[in-house]
Amino acid sequence: MKKENDIYDLVGVGIGPFNLSLIALLAPLKSISLKFLDGKSEFSWHPELMFGDATMQTSYLKDLVTPVMPTNPYSFLNYLVSNGQFYHFLNTGRQSITRFEFEAYCKWVSREVSDFTEFDSKVLGVEHVGDKFKVISENCEYEGRKLCVASGPRPNIPACARSHLGHKVFHAKSKEIKDLSVDGKRVLIVGGGQTGVEIFRNMLKDKWGRSQSVKLITGRENLMPLDEGPFTNEVFTPEFVSNFHSLSQKNKDSFTESLLLTSDGNTPSYLQELYNELYLDKFYHKAFPAYDILPMRWLEALDRDSDHYVCRVKNRLNERDEDIEADIIILATGFKTKLPDFLDGLHDKISFDELGRPNMARDYKLVGDFGENEIYTMNYSRHGHGIADPQTSLMSWRSAVIANALLGHEQFKNTTYKSSFINFFTNGN
Ligand SMILES: Cc1cc2nc3c(=O)[nH]c(=O)nc-3n(C[C@H](O)[C@H](O)[C@H](O)COP(=O)(O)OP(=O)(O)OC[C@H]3O[C@@H](n4cnc5c(N)ncnc54)[C@H](O)[C@@H]3O)c2cc1C
Repeated sequence: MKKENDIYDLVGVGIGPFNLSLIALLAPLKSISLKFLDGKSEFSWHPELMFGDATMQTSYLKDLVTPVMPTNPYSFLNYLVSNGQFYHFLNTGRQSITRFEFEAYCKWVSREVSDFTEFDSKVLGVEHVGDKFKVISENCEYEGRKLCVASGPRPNIPACARSHLGHKVFHAKSKEIKDLSVDGKRVLIVGGGQTGVEIFRNMLKDKWGRSQSVKLITGRENLMPLDEGPFTNEVFTPEFVSNFHSLSQKNKDSFTESLLLTSDGNTPSYLQELYNELYLDKFYHKAFPAYDILPMRWLEALDRDSDHYVCRVKNRLNERDEDIEADIIILATGFKTKLPDFLDGLHDKISFDELGRPNMARDYKLVGDFGENEIYTMNYSRHGHGIADPQTSLMSWRSAVIANALLGHEQFKNTTYKSSFINFFTNGN
């Protein structure tokens, strides 16, 4: 196996938007040596779910760098200017950008910082040896004093579906959706969050062929809109997250659950467009396949019956059991955050809470026994840092917090705010 001679100050694992944001802040400083690894051949952002009609749920100003360093060269605005798009973008009059545009912007940044990245480099394991980490990828071994792990969450698969996983039952974020063909098939989509609704809408428009029928079940009360009121959005501020971290675990867990729709709700304009299309189809076009939207339904069991599946669903409104037959089942059942397998070898050095979740310091450092060395993580601390953790909303702020901790001084000043209109933590005196 190839081995790099350098010992890097920081080795990053995963080059999704979160670690890309950290690279974008650190690269121009040239004060610490960096190497970031990713198993893919180039940057891409959830390519399985890159539907043409999908928009970002977050402002384009909350890009990789702007909220903490608007003068950084890797801002969305600089991307527009560098590519000669600035005036035309403004002429579109749009407040939000598509996911495709966000990915194109990130691809541009990833090319600009390519001196610090290595793609086609899937990490298999990490060892802590002496005063450094050894990061073992498929084809090379890297050494680093500190790590930042942002390798993404894992698909959440309902227990009853696990033994059926394959090309007829699969999670929405999986390769099966790329080559899907639903011609003449009965499709069941499980999950009514943004991904489930996007698949439902695209299914009605025959994106994967002409289905016989499409049903969507969701455990929620309805297709619920994202709660993006201005006061609600105060929880997506550095001040909130910083203070939230020190609350009791019990209160953190219950408050985060109460805020679910600020993060997992559906884009309101998307729901409006979908409703409008259903209206036009029902009363005029009559072109959609048969469909059903079934709220308050919980998937309880899944059985194979010759060439199809029978799904036992609990209707939580009238408490009745319902059976739904389907040929293809798409699980839009979200993600769960669990540390990646390549950290398994370090488990006895990491501190976990009683539910097996890693304890995370305020600056996103894994609490553990690594001496002088440190492991930072992104997107593994919803239980510690709250509802904003999996979102892009505060990603540049979090990168700045981590960058300051790595550098040992306050390089990025804009990490402490005291400007909230809602006093969650003090009485204002
Ligand atoms: C379809 C979709 C749309 C979303 N839209 C929004 C939105 O509009 N607004 C918002 O705030 N949030 C959104 N989110 C939530 C969140 O912002 C994204 O999930 C975001 O991609 C998380 O970034 P990440 O860098 O942690 O992980 P990822 O984007 O998942 O990137 C992780 C990277 O790690 C790499 N990797 C994994 N394992 C290894 C390994 N062993 N070795 C090397 N590399 C590895 C992967 O190849 C990948 O490139 C969305 C999520 C999804 C799924």
